[in-house]
Amino acid sequence: MSKEQRMKEIEDEVAKCRKCALWMTKTKSVFGEGSLNPKVMFISEAPGYNEDQQGRPFVGKAGKILDELLEIIGLKREEVYIANVLKCRPPNNRDPKPEEIKACTPYLDKQIQIIKPKIICTMGNFATKYVFEKFGLKSGNIGKLHGKAFKIRNLLMNCVVIPLYHPAVATYNSGMKTTLIEDFRRIKEFIE
Ligand code: URA
Ligand code: SF4
Repeated sequence: MSKEQRMKEIEDEVAKCRKCALWMTKTKSVFGEGSLNPKVMFISEAPGYNEDQQGRPFVGKAGKILDELLEIIGLKREEVYIANVLKCRPPNNRDPKPEEIKACTPYLDKQIQIIKPKIICTMGNFATKYVFEKFGLKSGNIGKLHGKAFKIRNLLMNCVVIPLYHPAVATYNSGMKTTLIEDFRRIKEFIE
């Protein structure tokens, strides 16, 4: 089966998933999208209002900031893949619950397995914690880890993880934009 077919199968599963209570309150699930051979795989937290309405990741305010950041480092959306830890929106954008993360992340794990990214950028605390624990890295707060590169090398993966602040932080703290830009520039160092 091709990567595209494997990914489509999981996307269809997500569309009808009822493994946690979020299926009841979502409008559309947000599976993720982008190149299946991407320069960077971005992993964020969960859909927000606009994403839930449209069924696509990062199409609201945070998406605008992400687009700007990508443009600054010369990457197109079609060259990256964007996914979230949770595929359905938590009501009022509340934090994901542990049982939701547990129920949903097998989908993200499969996306990572299919894509086998060379660079994973986690955005925000939830995505960073999940990815760090998954790969046996010592996790910590995003304030400490952001912009640093962590190598993962095992039988299945040969990749760099770069934690980033969630782009939404720039909407309520304009100083964070500068930090985000600096951290995004670091990604470039690892693109082959
Ligand atoms: N914030 C996220 O964490 N994910 C999205 O897809 C959009 C906003
Ligand atoms: Fe299923 Fe994930 Fe949606 Fe919960 S958030 S219903 S586990 S797809």
